[in-house]
Amino acid sequence: MASMSFFSTRGGSVVTASQAILRGLAADGGLYVPAMFPQVTSDRIAALSGMGYTRRALEILALFLEDFSRPEIEKAVGAAYGEGRFDDPAVAPVKRLDDNTWVLELFHGPTLAFKDMALQLLPHLTRLSAEKNGEKREISILVATSGDTGKAALEGFRDVPGTSCTVFYPMDGVSDVQRMQMVTTGGNNTHVIAVKGNFDDAQTGVKDLFSSPEFVKNMDARGKALSSANSINFGRLVPQVVYYFSAYADLVAQGAIVSGDPVNFCVPTGNFGNILAGYYAREMGLPIHRLICASNRNNVLTDFFNSGIYSTHRLFYKTNSPSMDILVSSNLERLLFEAADRDGELVKTWMKLLRDCGSYSVGDQRRDWLNNTFWGGYADDHATVREIGTRFTHDHYLFDTHTAVAANVLRQYRDQKRDETPTVIVATANPYKFSRDVLSGIAGREAAQGLDAFACSEELERRTGVPMPAQVRGLRDLPVRHRTECDVSGMAQAVLNEFDK
Ligand SMILES: *Cc1c(COP(=O)(O)O)cnc(C)c1O
Repeated sequence: MASMSFFSTRGGSVVTASQAILRGLAADGGLYVPAMFPQVTSDRIAALSGMGYTRRALEILALFLEDFSRPEIEKAVGAAYGEGRFDDPAVAPVKRLDDNTWVLELFHGPTLAFKDMALQLLPHLTRLSAEKNGEKREISILVATSGDTGKAALEGFRDVPGTSCTVFYPMDGVSDVQRMQMVTTGGNNTHVIAVKGNFDDAQTGVKDLFSSPEFVKNMDARGKALSSANSINFGRLVPQVVYYFSAYADLVAQGAIVSGDPVNFCVPTGNFGNILAGYYAREMGLPIHRLICASNRNNVLTDFFNSGIYSTHRLFYKTNSPSMDILVSSNLERLLFEAADRDGELVKTWMKLLRDCGSYSVGDQRRDWLNNTFWGGYADDHATVREIGTRFTHDHYLFDTHTAVAANVLRQYRDQKRDETPTVIVATANPYKFSRDVLSGIAGREAAQGLDAFACSEELERRTGVPMPAQVRGLRDLPVRHRTECDVSGMAQAVLNEFDK
């Protein structure tokens, strides 16, 4: 069988899986996509029901990672999802919310957000990829984070030999718990830098570092090769495909559906990585009817699915779901590539328009094609907090703010579309990561007044009985180890300073 190769969304370069993972971004600025979608038959999907998560991951990953041996993948998934890494033996359990709605919990990893699903595995894939390509330099991971990726990357790469991990976060754009999680990180290869700007500034800044010949040369002179742990890296995307299959297999195993039945997934979306993995699963044969794309007030994707026009000419809002405060949704480029019938030149034109003019249009025909699969909606802060209260009262389920956005958007979708297909809400964070706003949803704004993030967590636990995770409880006593700050224009120098310390 010919080895699975990867192209750039902008037309260039054919590479192997390990090269795509090592490079992160293609040389022409595009994102790596698989040459084709491997097909998973309904028999094989049904067989997943009898397997644990690690085995499911092995089956799905092996389809894409053709230049990795099965024992290599087996060892990597064992290290990522095996005994003790996640606080639920199912790794990504599916819980029933009501007759027609389930919750896929992706927050049982060490940093309590769904980013762990990919970032517990990526360091192993990165090391193997370096080995396969004779890379002797240190792999220096650079990450821009809207809050959760940063900590997940730091924990994934912490003390992994031959790597280092540098995280940029928007100084005032993350929750207290998120910031504390990052700045208290241990390990001798971790760096955390606060950028005086928003997430888009940090993300654009990191992309610019990757494409700056001078910066790349400066890093090379220090024996370092750049790589990315952001969701633009294919190594981030492919582990996420697994849990869509896994959730479906669980629904079959629970008797909620019969193998072959359609399901919907409703996904709280920012950079479009999570929901894109759902689209990939659908292209591989998983019976997904609709993917519901839930945004917060930064509803650039809602407008895109409605109008076919992507426009960043809008205000950037700081919301109570900060990990979704994004206007330039990077992974959408991979969906555009499919919408363009895999015409890299067309994608290149759209991306140039986005960069130069802040908007592009895919036209009505392509928009309609997208709407066969996707439906976009949004919920503002007020609706989000209200949703948390309602769901806790009626369903006794405690949502974090991001997942509550999805729950609210699902309500709107059902009202408008009258679609009763069984639907899985993808839960992306533990509620204690955003305890202030979650507490407000349960008990009103007044309840959180005058309390710091820790006191909010204690109050939340007292009122709901939902146990506070040990990672949150222990945070207060950890020493702050990272205090570096920089301007958007000073990111390159800040990285070099870290390594020259
Ligand atoms: C990252 C994140 C999201 C957004 O996921 P994307 O893959 O960027 O669309 C949603 N919720 C939480 C809690 C996150 O950490």
